[in-house]
Amino acid sequence: MVSKASFSILALLFGFSQALYLNQPQQTDMTSMILTINNGSSELLLEGDILLPRGRNGLVCADSSCFWKKSSNGLVEVPYTVSSVFSFSEKTVIANAMASFHSKTCIRFVPRTNQTDYLSIESKTGCYSNVGKTGGAQVVSLSRLGCVHYGIVEHELNHALGFQHEHTRSDRDGYVTINWANIDPNTVSNFDLKNTNNLKTPYDYSSIMHYGKTAFSINGLNTITPIPDPTVAIGQREEMSAIDILRINTLYQC
Ligand SMILES: [Zn+2]
Repeated sequence: MVSKASFSILALLFGFSQALYLNQPQQTDMTSMILTINNGSSELLLEGDILLPRGRNGLVCADSSCFWKKSSNGLVEVPYTVSSVFSFSEKTVIANAMASFHSKTCIRFVPRTNQTDYLSIESKTGCYSNVGKTGGAQVVSLSRLGCVHYGIVEHELNHALGFQHEHTRSDRDGYVTINWANIDPNTVSNFDLKNTNNLKTPYDYSSIMHYGKTAFSINGLNTITPIPDPTVAIGQREEMSAIDILRINTLYQC
């Protein structure tokens, strides 16, 4: 697992205050919500909620070791444990989010028995996950202070399955303009292009993995602008889009 010590650098990066988040209306950009909650996390997080990868790159993974294995029955079991600190209702939110994968994909989150590789769902400081399977126990953090929402749980579980943020995919420059002047200089790496396998799926503004228009903004102005139509909505954290689901089914050959 990831060494805590190696993450001491953090002290994050993002200029959203908890108070700001709490005062935002219901229709808030949930991306900002994740970034807000993660502000001050003791982990080194990329793009706000991705644990520092250890030589792996999510969707592009030469030997497939970063993906979960499919069983002979065609299902992809992803063992997990859930910390006892979560309340019954919080566990229900997590279970409901997992069930959305079960009903639409061949992914099956299963309570861990003795599997070596599994997700350890805990309430740490922030909402975050590794991208893909790291081997061994890997933490998916869903802070009780704001991360236990259906869409956020789906978002973090998508990371754990191997998916990057949509705004970093390799062909993004054809679909969004990154407004570098509006980005906090300390956070520009969050907009680095990734060498992603896009699985022949279209760029998806409605993806639950897309960041919102003002993510990492230093001045409140947009950092990500859809092109050619700047009014297209991005950054939703309500539920997985049809393309999010298609992508899981394609990657895991469901
Ligand atoms: Zn994320």
